[in-house]
Amino acid sequence: MASQVNGHSSGSGAQGGESLREDLQEFLSGEAPLHQLDDLTKVNPVTLETVLRCLQARYAADTFYTNAGCTLVALNPFKPVPQLYSPALMREYHAAPQPQKLKPHIFTVGEQTYRNVKSLIEPVNQSIIVSGESGAGKTWTSRCLMKFYAVVAASPTSQESYKIAERIEQRILNSNPVMEAFGNACTLRNNNSSRFGKFIQLQLNRAQQMTGAAVQTYLLEKTRVACQASSERNFHIFYQICKGASMDERLQWHLPEGAAFFWLPNPERTLEEDCFEVTREAMLHLGIDTPAQNNIFQVLAGLLHLGNVRFAHSEDEAQPCHLTGDAQCSLKTSALLLQLPEDPLLETLRIRTIRAGRQQQVFQKPCSQAECDTRRDCVAKLVYARLFDWLVSVINSSICADPASWTTFIGLLDVYGFESFPNNSLEQLCINYANEKLQQHFVAHYLRAQQEEYAVEGLEWSFVNYQDNQTCLDLIEGSPISICSLINEECRLNRPSSAAQLQTRIESALAGSPRLGHNKLSREPSFVVLHYAGPVQYHTAGLVEKNKDPVPPELTRLLQQSQDPLLKVLFPADPEEKAQEEPSGQSRAPVLTVVSKFKASLEQLLQVLHCTTPHYIRCIKPNSQGQAHSFLQEEVLSQLEACGLVETIHISAAGFPIRIPHWNFVERYEVLRRICARTSSGPHSPSPAEGHSERSPCTEAATLQAVLQDILHTLPALTQAAATL
Ligand code: ATP
Ligand code: MG
Repeated sequence: MASQVNGHSSGSGAQGGESLREDLQEFLSGEAPLHQLDDLTKVNPVTLETVLRCLQARYAADTFYTNAGCTLVALNPFKPVPQLYSPALMREYHAAPQPQKLKPHIFTVGEQTYRNVKSLIEPVNQSIIVSGESGAGKTWTSRCLMKFYAVVAASPTSQESYKIAERIEQRILNSNPVMEAFGNACTLRNNNSSRFGKFIQLQLNRAQQMTGAAVQTYLLEKTRVACQASSERNFHIFYQICKGASMDERLQWHLPEGAAFFWLPNPERTLEEDCFEVTREAMLHLGIDTPAQNNIFQVLAGLLHLGNVRFAHSEDEAQPCHLTGDAQCSLKTSALLLQLPEDPLLETLRIRTIRAGRQQQVFQKPCSQAECDTRRDCVAKLVYARLFDWLVSVINSSICADPASWTTFIGLLDVYGFESFPNNSLEQLCINYANEKLQQHFVAHYLRAQQEEYAVEGLEWSFVNYQDNQTCLDLIEGSPISICSLINEECRLNRPSSAAQLQTRIESALAGSPRLGHNKLSREPSFVVLHYAGPVQYHTAGLVEKNKDPVPPELTRLLQQSQDPLLKVLFPADPEEKAQEEPSGQSRAPVLTVVSKFKASLEQLLQVLHCTTPHYIRCIKPNSQGQAHSFLQEEVLSQLEACGLVETIHISAAGFPIRIPHWNFVERYEVLRRICARTSSGPHSPSPAEGHSERSPCTEAATLQAVLQDILHTLPALTQAAATL
């Protein structure tokens, strides 16, 4: 039966006779049809199969959101459903006395967090952790939530403050197209795949108005700028420039129509995301004016031309590689656009500088063709990564509120979901490590904490077995020996070691871990981690090198010579880089590896999350083709397993939905008790404060019950009192 909810129709479900049949079935069985079950805790019994069937039935009825206890499951409709995200509906959820009684929606979560920042549940700061695999709808969900807060958290009091509020919200929303243009790309799994993780903190003042925001990004996939898997694309911004530049701009940036670039694969595909104008407009709102924008685009065009610089071996090995075909012309254009001297650019790409000996003598050695390619790619990655970080800092300075102007925040986390491919490397290790951490946070917050609390309170409770992933985290990040520490050590020792050696080291040093699987799947050197979401095989080839992410100092020095205003900002001549250039053996700062930087940023993120009340949205992709009206059971099943949804439902179904610390409740409602004592003609209830020091579960429960009864009895008197104020 297609239900009409909250002003939005749940769509094309069964109609007419079908509906009648369902009603009859419902009547006879005494149970609601599956698609009407708003909460998976009501499915009976709760198994993977029943949960799957319920979600499938709801999907068929165009109902995309379902509660799963403390989690909201969001199915990707893969089609526009505008009525589901209209500002009118946002206001409806905002105005509802009990939004949780409306149909499940991301706006329920949005409204709940918005109310919680002022409520008595500690801590007041809130976070929404949006997870799911690539293409499941995390970014879409985060964007919709931001729009929701922009609508509900902007209650202006005056014309002037309205303008200010509008500006800041608009700026915050404008950060999305900019970050997506520079950080998203078309992949095999998602035409608009985020190639970085994002945590945005929406800052609210005492009046619960949004006064600003701060963005933190994680692990940009910078290799994409110089290397794209077949059928995938580079970051959207490159296509936007090439498609959207005006004639004048094309001349200025040397981008004639139809020009071919190695780093611009599949340019013929036109995507919704290819809209240059939207990006430019958004940048303007964020305070990046047209000359600054042109400067950015010029540098990006310079990188595209750099990608066309191709090398070939020289006959004489002592001679540096030479340029092939049109590469000389590309080099010239790239140097021009990046404002770099042409000859030093070429020399730096094909000649390595080595300092050795006590006297630090400088030697120069021609690079092999592969080394030249690596150095060229390294320049591009370095420039792009710094440009991205710089953009994030510009966005932050444009949207971040003065610390004195906000008191609480709502954090939105949109990070890459668990990944397992035929070939997994350092990127997947980091991503899956982050997912293990988040899963642990979830387990700790909802599952373990809830059960432990019940035990302390002496409540009758049958314990649910949950998968504690601490052993997996010990394997990945533990001390003194873990996968991370071993990979880092290889980097530090800087010794030539093969992929097979790394595999042997990991397998022998960590043999005792129950989470280290057996490498039966492939002959290539690799190791297997048994993640909570399933086993993943990581190939060790290139792992150490990726972890070092080495930047030859002469490349940085070269970029510091640029006369381009933007590159001057991105590559200032700073003393730190000089220190990094010191040869090994001398006293120098420890080189930060990719893994250690990632670990540090992850820990920082978890610290922030720990001081918030978390809310979870699990996005599910009904099929991997991105098709509407297609629900592939196998694909959904593996996602349900990967996020341990059934366990979550079991716990939530048996748990108490509201958990307010006793002292906090008493503190807040003491006033009501007093009013009640004065006005109520009923029996006098004991003062909660009186019983405060002795907190046996029974007296607490009795006190709470009494206070609640008081509140109910007192409501009419209170309303009257309020009217006379
Ligand atoms: P990735 O990890 O690759 O970044 P993601 O989980 O962020 O993936 P999204 O980019 O949010 O995935 O969603 C993929 C696509 O699915 C969107 O571009 C959009 O076309 C569609 N989509 C997602 N959610 C919705 C929705 N609620 N309504 C309509 N379409 C949606
Ligand atoms: Mg995304």
